[in-house]
Amino acid sequence: MSRAEFQQSELWEISRQLISFNTVSALSNLNIAEFLANYLESSGMSVQIVTETIAGVPKANVVAWVGPAEPGGLILSGHMDIVPFEGQPGWKTDPLKMQTDGKRIFGRGVSDMKIFLAQSLLAARQQPLHQLKRPLVFIFTCDEEVAGQGSARLVQTLPEVIKGCPLPEIALIGEPTNFAIFPAHKGYASFDLRVQGKGGHSSLPSNGLNAIDIMGQILQVIKQVGKQLEKQSLPENIQLFPEVPYSTFNNGLISGGLAPNMIAETCRLTASLRVAPGDTADEILQQVQQQIEQKILPEVRLQAPDGGIFLENLVAVPPLKSPLEGPFVELLGRIIGQSITRGAPYATDGGQFQSLGINSYICGPGELAEAHQPNESLAVENFFGGLEKLERIIHAWCIE
Ligand SMILES: [Zn+2]
Repeated sequence: MSRAEFQQSELWEISRQLISFNTVSALSNLNIAEFLANYLESSGMSVQIVTETIAGVPKANVVAWVGPAEPGGLILSGHMDIVPFEGQPGWKTDPLKMQTDGKRIFGRGVSDMKIFLAQSLLAARQQPLHQLKRPLVFIFTCDEEVAGQGSARLVQTLPEVIKGCPLPEIALIGEPTNFAIFPAHKGYASFDLRVQGKGGHSSLPSNGLNAIDIMGQILQVIKQVGKQLEKQSLPENIQLFPEVPYSTFNNGLISGGLAPNMIAETCRLTASLRVAPGDTADEILQQVQQQIEQKILPEVRLQAPDGGIFLENLVAVPPLKSPLEGPFVELLGRIIGQSITRGAPYATDGGQFQSLGINSYICGPGELAEAHQPNESLAVENFFGGLEKLERIIHAWCIE
């Protein structure tokens, strides 16, 4: 196919339009949601735009479904938001204007992950939907790039949103994997620990409580809990996450105190957790809090009765671990031509879907090395190849 021909294809046209919406997570995404909803409705699907207000901004998730009220349905899912590009050096083209040099396609979101959305729209339109034997459901989420907040809200109401359609069995999430199949990923959580001490003149240390000193003890607790986690590698996690098969902390940011001659009154740590399947952020943070309670808080209460240690701003994306075998894994492997080897190196909406009992697999046309980069691009083979593969997956699972 010549460059001119493929730029006339419907896949090009839909992709071009999706890329043109500035859906950076901080902005409202109602425009793209409406565009997607209209397209899916015109293909004969039932559609709901589920609106939310997140951080004061109007947002929407899009849910569409079609097919008989049978179990075993398939979800195709992707996120509508993109990471920022303004101020990111290195862009040679307008990030919102999709372009090609004949070999690769350029634009913010081509790999992560608007081309997959375009392929999903077209794959559904080209199927005989009246012949479906199992439901086909689309879930397009907002705010995936900010700790998956869109899907976290949606899963609370999903069964009612698609009422009449039994909850699907499988979700295929088209995040950038260059068609590798990932059945699992670690979860992610970020949180603050804030110490409120008692300030004063540094010449009289015992009159105050130095919050930075207390934070030093908290860092020791985190280190000890981290060491415990290291001893708890499940056999499947060793296979899926060979480099680091256990949950880990990262102390990312710290601030506290005002001047060298003042007792530091406050100190704040912002840290994160990568949560291996089998663990939960809540359980791990409970261990931290229990040790703080036993080892550190008695001193705080004595020295600074108005002080304390507070866990704040917790945001968590659950881990994902779906079965490594089964009919869908077989079908996907056959069509994609790959087998499962390991877990994904990032979190997705799949952890939220699995909390509803929906097994989720991550496999998409984009390339991870391109995601979030300037001049984000996608190979032309994956552009058309991804559409063809999706059509075959839908046909094999929902129609045959
Ligand atoms: Zn993504």
